Amino acid sequence: MSAGATPAAGDGKPLVRVQNLVKYFPLRGGILQRTVAEVKAVDDVTFDVRAGEVFGLVGESGCGKTTTGRLLLRLIEPTSGTVEFDGRDLTKMKSDELKKTRSDMQIVFQDPYASLNPRLPIGEIIGEGLSNMGVRDRHQREERVAAILDKVGLRRYYINRYPHEFSGGQRQRIGLARALVLEPKFVVADEPVSALDVSIQSQVLNLMADLKDELQLTYLFISHNLSVVEHISDRVGVMYLGKLVEMSSTEDLFKNPKHPYTKFLLSAIPKPDPRQHRQRLILSGDVPSPINPPTGCRFHTRCPIAQFPICSEQQPAFELKSTGHWAACHFAEQTKELEKESGFVAPAIEAVDEEAAAIGQAERSAASEPEDVLESELDEEARRRSSEPLGGE
Ligand code: SF4
Repeated sequence: MSAGATPAAGDGKPLVRVQNLVKYFPLRGGILQRTVAEVKAVDDVTFDVRAGEVFGLVGESGCGKTTTGRLLLRLIEPTSGTVEFDGRDLTKMKSDELKKTRSDMQIVFQDPYASLNPRLPIGEIIGEGLSNMGVRDRHQREERVAAILDKVGLRRYYINRYPHEFSGGQRQRIGLARALVLEPKFVVADEPVSALDVSIQSQVLNLMADLKDELQLTYLFISHNLSVVEHISDRVGVMYLGKLVEMSSTEDLFKNPKHPYTKFLLSAIPKPDPRQHRQRLILSGDVPSPINPPTGCRFHTRCPIAQFPICSEQQPAFELKSTGHWAACHFAEQTKELEKESGFVAPAIEAVDEEAAAIGQAERSAASEPEDVLESELDEEARRRSSEPLGGE
């Protein structure tokens, strides 16, 4: 089970419901600054985030995952579509109601260096949201800031220190404290560990998983790193060029990916054991422009099993392929046969160096051998040697 998984997760009711969400950014040009084109950053995305779960959103840079996260908090306005939070449509809320609802929805930014005001002590940075929400009493604010510092593993006396006095991992804990001080229900974590050293990443991830259980949070966890997403998420959505192409439970996605793009992403995950290696699949072709995305399936220009003309002419529907497993591919059920025909090797087939694996197995069994057995074997060897005749005549 992933670090963030709980038995109830996945059975919860939707806390956030996203329907046909679209965001086009206009590109302006000419003397009159007219709209000459549009960047189709998010194009008709539909999914739910269930109460109590961690929903991971993955994809390459520029696929629209960060824009989706910001749309969910209405930090940017959607072009069309709806986002419901706790049964209420955020896209139709007036500013007063939106401000009240925002205390239930917070964001943790990617860059812990750039997201904290260097001129303010961290006590003020974390307490700013409380002031905005009407907590006027200074003593009360400081108490709540001190309490949240305890929760994220920072000392209370850090309250008057400035961001430059902290390490990267500590700054991300400050970012978490700022998001959690308002006791939200839902947190969008936008690449929260990608700017950190690997050793610090696991600490912050484990802290997020613990806080999720302790404070009954729901996360949208955005990352380009599938192994990080596997560690913390209950369900995963994969985005490509502004569209969701696959969504399922984390376990099912990693064991049984249905979309060719997901298979490419999985093949890029490094194996921690150097004796095992995964067949690395290299995506051919450039990422198409989101200004003028390919017709039909957006992945057809790079897909090794694309079938023409259907893949270049007809957009595949994002539909249920098996229990809880959604994908947008005309050939999701025939991928194995098409992969064989095209010579494409799915990453689930892992190449293992047999000899190295056998040596590793022997080393592991020796290491697990009880000490007294090893000692008696050594004693036996010593006795045998001492009874042998000395060399020479
Ligand atoms: Fe590949 Fe066609 Fe499936 Fe798109 S619809 S992923 S091009 S096989």
